[in-house]
Amino acid sequence: MSRSESLFQAAQAHIPGGVNSPVRAFKGVGGTPIFFKRGEGPFLFDEDDQRYIDYVGSWGPMLLGHAYPPVINAVREALDNGLGFGAPTAIETEMADLVCELVPSMELVRMVSSGTEATMSAIRLARGFTGRDKIVKFEGCYHGHSDSLLVKAGSGALTLGEPNSPGVPAALAEHTITLTYNDIDNVRQAFAEIGDQIACIIVEPVAGNMNCILPKEGFLEGLRDVCDQYGSVLIFDEVMTGFRVALGGAQEYFNIKPDLTTLGKVIGGGLPVGAFGGKREIMEHIAPLGPVYQAGTLSGNPLAMAAGLAMLTALKAEGIHEALSAKAEYLTQGLEAMAARHGIPFTTSCVGGMFGLFFTEQETVSSFAEATACNTERFGKFFHGMLEEGIYLAPSAFEAGFVSNAHTEAELDATLAAADRVFAKLAG
Ligand code: PMP
Repeated sequence: MSRSESLFQAAQAHIPGGVNSPVRAFKGVGGTPIFFKRGEGPFLFDEDDQRYIDYVGSWGPMLLGHAYPPVINAVREALDNGLGFGAPTAIETEMADLVCELVPSMELVRMVSSGTEATMSAIRLARGFTGRDKIVKFEGCYHGHSDSLLVKAGSGALTLGEPNSPGVPAALAEHTITLTYNDIDNVRQAFAEIGDQIACIIVEPVAGNMNCILPKEGFLEGLRDVCDQYGSVLIFDEVMTGFRVALGGAQEYFNIKPDLTTLGKVIGGGLPVGAFGGKREIMEHIAPLGPVYQAGTLSGNPLAMAAGLAMLTALKAEGIHEALSAKAEYLTQGLEAMAARHGIPFTTSCVGGMFGLFFTEQETVSSFAEATACNTERFGKFFHGMLEEGIYLAPSAFEAGFVSNAHTEAELDATLAAADRVFAKLAG
């Protein structure tokens, strides 16, 4: 028995399903989750001392690779001063200034400890600001696990086939209107009917929780127009795309200014951090300036701020985003060519360092319905074939993949060579 297998057995004694977040359990692909003990650059090392080329990147934060020295050193330096005070620190202001500089639609920003908290708080703020209860989200988009947002959700909820969770009161869920991603007519129609009751639209500007689906031309612009017309708040959930798709996030890449933005993952450099912010006029409604309550004992924690600040400072200095895009493109184009050579219906998507893999006859996948129609069984076989080759992909057909700046041509070529062998097996 491998160490991962025995550790997984032991974990199940006192941890539900042996994991602290469901998608880690490999339910979407079958088999035993790998237990890791160390990361370095583009690599992860498991408890059996196997090395993997990693395309999960801790689900997004490891944009510069694992154990990136400037981030590790910043945390080490902060460590000796104590782990937290629950009182203001200078580094929080440095962090807020840098976030608002990099994402100019954010005039005020509040730090929290996860993406879930960021989106939950942004929704409450939008409701408090507009005095309206209804919110609009899109099928297959995932915005964390707060009650209002666990309706037709993506990510682990979708992988487990339970996009609507028991435990969410129907009376609350009925205020969440779920529309079709990339269908602006659907949005216009809903607003024509009840636009004056809708507090906000929350959207992943690139959908990364039902695989990786890019917005169609005009979709995000359309959302901006509709929100302007009906006085609703436009929230870009950039927990995944922030600082990744471009330094200023998807809003910079697509040149659209949301009213509020939620951030997570990269902003903590691997430690638990999220943030929400946006227009001053809206943000001034949050406590203690305004009546909409939101708080956190661990918010702005000095270690988390040190990691995040080092991460964002490095990203700003290094200007890595073109390189990141080029790497993801090289990888996805290569995979498409290999699949075609073996006669396997397969396509990909990519933007910035994010990418999607689809086992389908279709050339592009642009909706939840199309994403869920892909061959997930074949994805599972591909995933395990790649895992045996030492390539660690997200263990679900409904998650985006991530390249980091630490992935060099050598790792990308090794991945393509492995894929060539795995596609050959799938075809045979
Ligand atoms: N929003 C998006 C777009 C996400 O991808 C995620 C997590 N994958 C979240 C929100 C929730 O973040 P967290 O897991 O940190 O609560």
